Amino acid sequence: DPGAATVAPRPAVRMTDIRHRFDDLIAVDDVSLDVSPGEVVCLLGPSGCGKTTLLRIAAGLEDVQHGRVQLDGDLVAEAGRRGVPPEKRSVGLMFQDSALFPHLTVLENVVFGLGSLPLADRGRRGHELLEQLRMGQYAHAYPHVLSGGQQQRVALARALAPAPRLMLLDEPFSALDARLRDQIRDDTLHALKSSGAGTLLVTHDPEEAMFMADRIAIMRDGRILQIGHPVDLYCRPADPFVVTFFGDVNRFEGVVERGEVLTPVGRVEATGLQDGTLAQVLVRPEALRVVVVGEPGTHDRTHVIMSRLLGRTSLTHLCVHDDSGREYHLHSRMPGVFLPEENQPVELHLDRSQIFVFPAGA
Ligand code: ATP
Repeated sequence: DPGAATVAPRPAVRMTDIRHRFDDLIAVDDVSLDVSPGEVVCLLGPSGCGKTTLLRIAAGLEDVQHGRVQLDGDLVAEAGRRGVPPEKRSVGLMFQDSALFPHLTVLENVVFGLGSLPLADRGRRGHELLEQLRMGQYAHAYPHVLSGGQQQRVALARALAPAPRLMLLDEPFSALDARLRDQIRDDTLHALKSSGAGTLLVTHDPEEAMFMADRIAIMRDGRILQIGHPVDLYCRPADPFVVTFFGDVNRFEGVVERGEVLTPVGRVEATGLQDGTLAQVLVRPEALRVVVVGEPGTHDRTHVIMSRLLGRTSLTHLCVHDDSGREYHLHSRMPGVFLPEENQPVELHLDRSQIFVFPAGA
């Protein structure tokens, strides 16, 4: 069938018009979301915005109060009807502290859900996944001898073993220390991608979402504010909240005049805003490149308050004055070691791609 090639694959999960209340609290407010097979979608947002509730609805751990859930084209839950129970959904679950069965070996844990396969196939599948997640040599160890990171690797292998069509991961790395996290994220992403399952991953860590996701859905108060490729969200944020979720920003207000807003760091184009309206200007610290000029201590209009090396970047606190003499404190972030002295006069060069203008109050 020549037409078949153009038919999009059925989404691993399709959630449509999902609303969910706990008494008076609206935890999820009209969310629709698709995840394609092989795609990783991250739900990113602050604590309490409804991420976990959405995941639990997809898993069948929470009833659907409004809307419906389809897995691989099959309707599994709909408001007012009893849904397919979690264990019959072909969904792999992994949580922050997914407990392994303490009395079973690592391999026995991984193959636990493979009862329908012949014994030899179970073993082969288990070893394959443990190798992929660098846990091959622990196959016959018991969970209590493993580190937290190793336990999470085994939990992931166990979730992937039955080849689910959808993987649901809720803050799977948040209990691990930062050094471990990079490696396990990398291995997890490879394992997810080679499984071909669609993945919905909950995190409140923007860097984790940027690394793991094909698409990120930024949530606030039960709603998806923006969904897209990580680069889209970072470079073309639709809302001030999306900008600030990726890190602190310098914020100014000003009235739009001839399509521009005057800020203490210079004029900024206010595309799409009418003259006379009040605008807010968000300037990422990395939009401000600091160049030292002249001798320290001369207390120029723009000077350094303090500077700190944070590791991969350096943070500089600056004092800036606008034309009317009003004083502003700003933050600049630059790659590498940049440690100008206190009171050093400086100039600021702007990277306009990291400056965003919205209506005030948006
Ligand atoms: P976190 O990152 O803290 O886990 P989250 O974004 O995953 O947050 P949810 O756990 O989905 O948020 O919770 C959304 C809202 O619903 C919160 O205000 C929470 O307190 C509330 N909530 C969650 N589960 C229940 C429940 N079983 N009963 C009552 N309220 C609940």
